[in-house]
Amino acid sequence: MTIAMISLIAVQMYWINSAFSIKNEELLRTASIALQSFALKLEKQETLQAIKSSKELHKNIKDSVFKSPRSNQRYTTNNQKINKESKILESNDIAESYLIALKSEGIIKRISDYNIHKIIQSEFSKLGILAPFYWGLVDTKKSNIVYAEHSVFSEELIHSMLYVQLFPHDILASNYRLSVIFPEIQAYIIDSLSIFLLGSAACILLIMGIFSISISSLLKQKKLSKMKADFIDNMTHEFQTPLATISLASEALRDQEILESELTRNRFLDAIHKENSRLSKHVDLILQIATLEDKSIPLILESVNMHEILEIAIDKQLINIRNKGGKINSVFLANHSTIHGDSHHLFNVFTNLLDNACKFSKDFPDITIKTENTKFDILIQISDKGIGIKKEDHKKIFDRFYRVITSNRHDVKGFGLGLSYVHSIVTMHKGSVSIQSHAKNGSTFSVKLPLEQ
Ligand code: ADP
Repeated sequence: MTIAMISLIAVQMYWINSAFSIKNEELLRTASIALQSFALKLEKQETLQAIKSSKELHKNIKDSVFKSPRSNQRYTTNNQKINKESKILESNDIAESYLIALKSEGIIKRISDYNIHKIIQSEFSKLGILAPFYWGLVDTKKSNIVYAEHSVFSEELIHSMLYVQLFPHDILASNYRLSVIFPEIQAYIIDSLSIFLLGSAACILLIMGIFSISISSLLKQKKLSKMKADFIDNMTHEFQTPLATISLASEALRDQEILESELTRNRFLDAIHKENSRLSKHVDLILQIATLEDKSIPLILESVNMHEILEIAIDKQLINIRNKGGKINSVFLANHSTIHGDSHHLFNVFTNLLDNACKFSKDFPDITIKTENTKFDILIQISDKGIGIKKEDHKKIFDRFYRVITSNRHDVKGFGLGLSYVHSIVTMHKGSVSIQSHAKNGSTFSVKLPLEQ
């Protein structure tokens, strides 16, 4: 997949690069045509100028011939006629020699009367080139710059591949050429390719987006399947123990001797009852989660006094805590404790939290349940002095099947479903659950539920 993505991006880059070179070549080719046409135009303008000057000269001569002080006199003699023709011929010679003189003048002087930049620009824009440019006059013999519109670009102008021979029809070819450079050619090409580049960038981003989504969903799938495998592993273990105990106890009860002794019989019946309720607790939890999965769990909402719910949950957990030699403190400071909720699920929520507080306390559980009111809520905090949870696990513990690595083993029983259930139920009550904990420093789970209005 990575190779496919890299190849796709490489192909895109190759196309962008090719498009850039093609556009560059096309620009230079078109500019070269425009320069040829500029050179012809300039030459034409110079010739027209020369003809105009020659005509004026002609006129002056004509005037001097025909409108001389004696022009009113009629030319009757042959001598006078010859005189007139020779003067006209003389005037033609003068125009021609003016043109020759003009052409032999220095190139800078010849172009100085024209706005070269403007003429080139008009030729460029006729062919659709709008890029800014600078021109310069290069002496090809000496390979140096004679004139540059912008001296910073002298070197570039000398080596520019875009040039034209000025006055191409001069009899003697001049060793000057007019060179042009586009200082912002890259920006101009990028600008003209912007739609293509944007399309390519969008394609690359799309590919990268799809790629990262695929990778992240692949990793998620991998993580989920590992968590599911852990869950099945845990569940098998959790179900196997009570089933084995029940099977052994019921087998033993077949024994006549045991049946006759009331004490032993009751011990086995108690064991069966205990393991059975443990099994039904597991089944309940799995069913709860399965119901939450399709989000169709119906809450039976009524007025619920949270202090009462907490008392029942504490009572249920008390034996467990005392068996471990621990204690539980209730600090009920909330003046308002009635909320609109489902008592059954809320009871399960606090049973889960208390069960965890007890399970994850190493030696003797020391648990505190504290309630207080904020403006619109009741805040219930369950603190323990147990093994605590590292910061990086805080968010993950509410994920389904997630168990912190140390609790993945069978030393602390569980499926990694309890906190996910807690989170779902509290959220369904428009409340929130958060955790403050540090590894080895105990944990506090805070549940905030909106008070009944
Ligand atoms: P389970 O208790 O079945 O493992 P939970 O969803 O209830 O699953 O808890 C997820 C994980 O969060 C636990 O495996 C444990 O690592 C961690 N955890 C929960 N409560 C506590 C607590 N009070 N102290 C330390 N770790 C806890």
